[in-house]
Amino acid sequence: MHIEESVKLDFKDVLIRPKRSTLTSRLDVDISREFIFRNSHNTYRGIPIIASNMDSTGTMAMAQALSGHGLSVALHKHYSADELADFFLTRHDKGIAASGAFYSMGISQLDFEKLNAVMARTGDTLEYLCIDVANGYTEGFINFVKKVRKAYPQLTIMAGNVVTGDITEELILAGADIVKVGIGPGSVCTTRKMTGVGYPQLSAVIECADAAHGLGGQICADGGCSVPGDLAKAFGGGADFVMLGGMLAGHDESAGELIERDGKKFKRFYGMSSRTAMEKYAGGVAEYRAAEGKDVLIDYRGPVADTLQDILGGVRSACTYVGAHKLKELTKRTTFVRVTQQLNEVFG
Ligand code: 5GP
Repeated sequence: MHIEESVKLDFKDVLIRPKRSTLTSRLDVDISREFIFRNSHNTYRGIPIIASNMDSTGTMAMAQALSGHGLSVALHKHYSADELADFFLTRHDKGIAASGAFYSMGISQLDFEKLNAVMARTGDTLEYLCIDVANGYTEGFINFVKKVRKAYPQLTIMAGNVVTGDITEELILAGADIVKVGIGPGSVCTTRKMTGVGYPQLSAVIECADAAHGLGGQICADGGCSVPGDLAKAFGGGADFVMLGGMLAGHDESAGELIERDGKKFKRFYGMSSRTAMEKYAGGVAEYRAAEGKDVLIDYRGPVADTLQDILGGVRSACTYVGAHKLKELTKRTTFVRVTQQLNEVFG
């Protein structure tokens, strides 16, 4: 048994120290990024925030809403091959950029066959892929990434989830362009509770970004952002992309029934490994496993555009506080200070 003694940090353990700046307004800050991916060689331009491929946030309606602002969505994997093919074939007419929508998949043979069927119909209108498993540490997963890379050299592949530098490097060498980072930090995730496994998200981001950047790859910080300041910390820690579930749930564009109780409106939101999701898609929780996700009712929040304005405004403002003219400069300008307190809770 081995104990790693160095302290690992979560978003709540730090704040970003302000720095002298020549910026006068947050309007002067450019929060878009450009990347040329290591393995696909495609060029990305956009605001590197991605709605999670959960079935409530990874919707086509969300893709339509976010792409107008330069953001992306990882579509959930429960759409049919026909629905996905139609979506990608017509995305251009809907004004959705190539980077506006990732096709998401698991690593079964059926997932591979579905991808082949969709690719055969969509040609080059589908450019971004998200290969997603709860535990990215299995040999089967790495081999699957290699297989997809070999079959589709032109696709930009995001793959995860992992939390350490060694496996980040391995995934990039296997063909991933973007490594998705995060095990256990999600708002409706119970992995840490059920298994005791995980890694504090900010440290995971810092360590995986370092490993990925050394090879010319990118990372996406997935999970654990609960306020706009957490996105600023993720980007400050080296994340190239940030993925959001809970912060984008509960909107008009999110799937799920609208529920009214005592005159208040709510939307249902649940983890993709929750009992609810498994009952919906897998006919129940298999005997050998336990659910690792929550099912919650959250306040209905109207159109996602208003929430977006808050999120993007927060990130822009963080850049002005440290004198970063561009989001790209945020990491270089970030000094984290470790804290024991973050917020004044007088008013809850
Ligand atoms: P959030 O932004 O809500 O904090 O985190 C979103 C992320 O949580 C997702 O992108 C996904 O990686 C993770 N996630 C979603 N559903 C589940 C689940 O049921 N169990 C676990 N362990 N993680 C989940």
